[in-house]
Amino acid sequence: LTDLNEEAETPVAPHVGYKKVLVTGGAGFIGSNVAEYLLARGDDVVIVDEINDYYSVDIKQSNLDHLRSLFPDESRLSIYKGDICDEKFMLDLFEKERPKWICHMAARAGVRPSIQDPYIYIHSNIKGTTHLMELAHKFGVENFVFASSSSVYGGSKSSYFSESENVDNPVSPYAASKKACELLAYTYHHLYNLNTSALRFFTVYGPRGRPDMAPFKFIDRISRGVEIQQFGDGSSSRDYTYISDIVEGVVRAIDRRHKYEVFNLGKGSGTSLKDFIDLVQKHTGKSAIINVLPDQPGDVPYTCADVNKASKLLGYNSTVSFEEGIKRTVAWYNQAHGTNDESVGCATASHMGRALS
Ligand code: NAD
Repeated sequence: LTDLNEEAETPVAPHVGYKKVLVTGGAGFIGSNVAEYLLARGDDVVIVDEINDYYSVDIKQSNLDHLRSLFPDESRLSIYKGDICDEKFMLDLFEKERPKWICHMAARAGVRPSIQDPYIYIHSNIKGTTHLMELAHKFGVENFVFASSSSVYGGSKSSYFSESENVDNPVSPYAASKKACELLAYTYHHLYNLNTSALRFFTVYGPRGRPDMAPFKFIDRISRGVEIQQFGDGSSSRDYTYISDIVEGVVRAIDRRHKYEVFNLGKGSGTSLKDFIDLVQKHTGKSAIINVLPDQPGDVPYTCADVNKASKLLGYNSTVSFEEGIKRTVAWYNQAHGTNDESVGCATASHMGRALS
């Protein structure tokens, strides 16, 4: 370990047979996809998730059922239901499982709800991450990788976000909670040499995507002829990242130990809301009914990731174009409704049925 840490290059941790990786938030969108990738390549995975009701509990249960159906061997996939802030529960879990890698995806997500109810973000995101880093330090974890967010760039004046930029102006409690986690990760590295990587995800979409996010909502509503809400004049632009690119970046970060690093994981180019809606119309073959509303407090007008650092140190490259990603996501949506035979993802019809209920 010491030798690896001293190298200037980005060392790839030896993948001797397998790793045992704790994936927090493994019932959620990104966590379940990361867990599936790790299991498929031969690692053992321990999932912890409280399965909260931020969105449908049935979707999360369905994500877990899907993983269990693919990987029925309980010696390779363990699933625990509980709160990462619960000290006794998590101590017991660590004593039993002793994971050496942590992929911390659990958090209360969402910018707008964090303005309504900031306390839950302080609990799950700041207290939860601190608790995990305490355990990581006590149990000699080799690498702690966690989900930060592009929302930390909220107060930035630039539109092309690089990790070297000052991000001391978060504009929502959610963004502030993610920035706080990054600061804590630095502290745990400084105090205990815990290897930590903070991954700033840029709007992630794709099969099994979160139903509270615009990509899922737009595909669902435009497909069903239901009105969509467009905040602002359509010129706001987001760096939308397809789920397989994000999973690739997360796994690359798990396989390389860094002392303390922050990485943008995004597509590296933005798409305007108007172009986004046009593409969904094109691939669903339906016209959108649009209700234009004012910009929302806390929303960021532009997000575009500078991914040069992730490319250099992690070998990360986004490979799925936005149009291809939307095409695949629409195909997944259609398949889940039984209107398309093409195999595009891992969600089942019942999963989608519950997602829409
Ligand atoms: P998600 O809500 O689908 O998954 C998060 C999971 O964490 C949920 O299953 C939830 O039940 C679990 N969880 C929350 N608090 C917990 C707690 N205290 N104890 C145990 N489990 C808990 O969200 P996602 O989109 O998969 O996001 C994963 C991570 O990526 C989050 O940290 C999120 O903030 C971050 N992120 C996501 C995006 C995106 O576009 N989806 C963008 C930036 C950052």
